Amino acid sequence: MNLEDHYSAILTALGEDVTREGLARTPHRAAKAMQYLTKGYQDDLETIINGALFTSSNREMVVVKDIELYSLCEHHLLPFIGKAHVAYLPDGKVLGLSKVARIVDMYARRLQIQENLCREIAEAVQSVTGALGVAVVIEAKHMCMMMRGVEKQNSSMVSSMMLGAFHDNPATRSEFLSLVR
Ligand SMILES: [Zn+2]
Repeated sequence: MNLEDHYSAILTALGEDVTREGLARTPHRAAKAMQYLTKGYQDDLETIINGALFTSSNREMVVVKDIELYSLCEHHLLPFIGKAHVAYLPDGKVLGLSKVARIVDMYARRLQIQENLCREIAEAVQSVTGALGVAVVIEAKHMCMMMRGVEKQNSSMVSSMMLGAFHDNPATRSEFLSLVR
């Protein structure tokens, strides 16, 4: 059974008539949408970095703020939406400008929980750049909290991951946090 047929079965199980006009192409569209929202499974780090790693004597913190993030929670398959802030302290290598956002996207476009997403992004930037430290903060609103269950409409969740110098050195960490606030 392909994804489209499964969506058809889900709609039927919900009590819908999949032959009515409005739903005629819905299984097809829903399958395509779900494939798009999880397209991160088709990517790997090496392919998205594609050699865009450059030698640099810069030892100052590199900060990429407000990276838009769209993901699906792995518990409910509902969206969580927010922003990621990523920083690293280069040790001879810097990433091409767009690549940090590509890394965020690759992991966000998979089924996730926010804490793991944070860690995966941080570890990926660390492994690609060999940086002295990496920091990731994600703020996101979870539809599974807002639309169901506790229905806390405006709560957002903040998670962070600090590696290397951002973990060990409070001054480095607070410099980063003041830059992203
Ligand atoms: Zn959820």
